[in-house]
Amino acid sequence: MSWEENVRKVVPYTPGDQPKVEGRIIKLNTNECPYPPTPKVREVLDNFDIDRMRLYPNVTAAPLVKSLALFYGLKENQVFVGVGSDDVLADCFLTFFHGNKPVIFPDITYSFYDVWAECFRIPYETIPLDDNFCVNPADYHRENGGVVIANPNAPTGENLPLDAIEDIVKANPDSVVIVDEAYADFGGESALKLIDKYDNLLIVQTFSKSRGFAGMRIGYACGCEKLIKYLNDVKFSINSYTMNQTAIDCGVAVCEDTAYFKELVSKIVATRERSKRELKELGFRFGDSKTNFLFVTHDKFSAVSLFEYLKTKNIYVRHFNKPRIDNYLRITIGTEEEMDVLFEEIRNFMNK
Ligand SMILES: *Cc1c(COP(=O)(O)O)cnc(C)c1O
Repeated sequence: MSWEENVRKVVPYTPGDQPKVEGRIIKLNTNECPYPPTPKVREVLDNFDIDRMRLYPNVTAAPLVKSLALFYGLKENQVFVGVGSDDVLADCFLTFFHGNKPVIFPDITYSFYDVWAECFRIPYETIPLDDNFCVNPADYHRENGGVVIANPNAPTGENLPLDAIEDIVKANPDSVVIVDEAYADFGGESALKLIDKYDNLLIVQTFSKSRGFAGMRIGYACGCEKLIKYLNDVKFSINSYTMNQTAIDCGVAVCEDTAYFKELVSKIVATRERSKRELKELGFRFGDSKTNFLFVTHDKFSAVSLFEYLKTKNIYVRHFNKPRIDNYLRITIGTEEEMDVLFEEIRNFMNK
């Protein structure tokens, strides 16, 4: 008998590379925002009284919860915040998926879901997306211990209309349905408006993609009071003080600057739409992404060889070595200039 028999063994999630190379790199591999957050964050940091660092932070991150509630027109007890939506989602898996029936989610989706399920020993089954990488809501009309849908989905970028989400929520009154809306700000329709109608619906969003704040780690969940209470009970059974003071204060400033937020999103959406035209001209195939990335494939060029070529030019995109998608690349929308360099290098690759 070795102590190793008692170890919770897990295969961890692999995040996209955070390359450390000299000189300019173009990082289009983790769906970060290519623009900085609102300059209001600078003011908050300049005025931050470091004496406050002696003290524990606000235990419920109340100022941030309050500004999110205001932003969405919700009650404060309908909002839960955490250290990025990864933290929030992990808490959700632990809280709501404690049954014996399998939790269900698509075969091609955010690759953290199966990692949490394995880590927490939650039974799960994956449901194949159709040939166009779309979710068929009817596939989610079956017994389960919970449902997770990323909408728009990652890494495919496909967006389910609101009535399809509602169909899944309605069909599963005895399960919690989590809708991971990391990319909803880029043109998808949020299911937030349904949370007063369905007590089994929980929406998870993040400041990492559409608000230029991945480094500060802020995510949140919105749902009925009861869901939020259960989430808080579990969170307070693990670590009360998850959100640090600077994240809370800066997060409030980010949440309040709605004009800056809208400008960020519209710039990225404009670059995305132009990128679609450019990539189409280069012969790529892809769906009608409503996110800050494009999931592309080419009939004449292999994804891996393009991936490797771009890396030699210090351009990082994401390749998933997984069934069905191993000839695809996920390309984050960068600045206009970054995308121009990318298109130029793709042309060079093709003309080699
Ligand atoms: C990026 C992403 C997350 C995690 O974002 P955080 O930085 O942890 O807030 C969660 N779900 C999906 C689908 C994502 O793409």
